[in-house]
Amino acid sequence: MSKVLYLDDMFLKEFEAEVVSVKDGKYIVLDQTSFYPKSGGIANDEGTLVRGSDTFNVVYVGKFGGQISHEVDKEGIQIGDKVTGTLDWNRRYKLMRFHTAAHVLSGAFFKNLGAKITGNEISSLDQGRIDFNLENFDRKLIEEQVEKSNEIIQADYPVEVYYLQRSEVEKDPDLIKLAMGLPKNIDVIRIVDIKNFDRQPDGGCHVLSLKEIGKISIKKLVNKGKNNRRLYFTIE
Ligand SMILES: [Zn+2]
Repeated sequence: MSKVLYLDDMFLKEFEAEVVSVKDGKYIVLDQTSFYPKSGGIANDEGTLVRGSDTFNVVYVGKFGGQISHEVDKEGIQIGDKVTGTLDWNRRYKLMRFHTAAHVLSGAFFKNLGAKITGNEISSLDQGRIDFNLENFDRKLIEEQVEKSNEIIQADYPVEVYYLQRSEVEKDPDLIKLAMGLPKNIDVIRIVDIKNFDRQPDGGCHVLSLKEIGKISIKKLVNKGKNNRRLYFTIE
């Protein structure tokens, strides 16, 4: 199994690795990687794998059979090759900011309105989306949560990432519901904790201080029918 470097260092932009498998010439598994695969509603990283003077562009990263697989734009990489992986940092950092913004919004909707997040997607660098269950489609109430989220960002709560034993998570009323969806064979659970605000079991990449997010603004609100609201947002 490849070592997943971003779990412990979300700001790692470049790393050395060895190729452990190549499928159909273009799908590369490394012994370790910092590339985030498309998962949890969040878009994948892009970047390059460089071997000597050869550059291979990473055009897609996915998780297949539990392995992170890097799709490159041309064939030629061989098992055993040593490569330098480099992330497209502008893209990753923007995704980290969007992803953390989604945490702040979901924290605000839950804390202030008791609304639960039912879906989220950050698939482009222009906008993020969250879905939540809220009884009434009350535009003003939703706008207020965005304002409150921006206040939380300005207050710059720190973000911490740490691990808890499954048994500890299962004792925690805040975390148990989310943790129940995780595979049974995971004993140690990674927690992303916006201090004194929102905690979640989470395998993704985030900024470490909320101010890095910038300012959230609403792009569009959609009424999806019974209890189901959709918010498209952007960050500046
Ligand atoms: Zn997250």
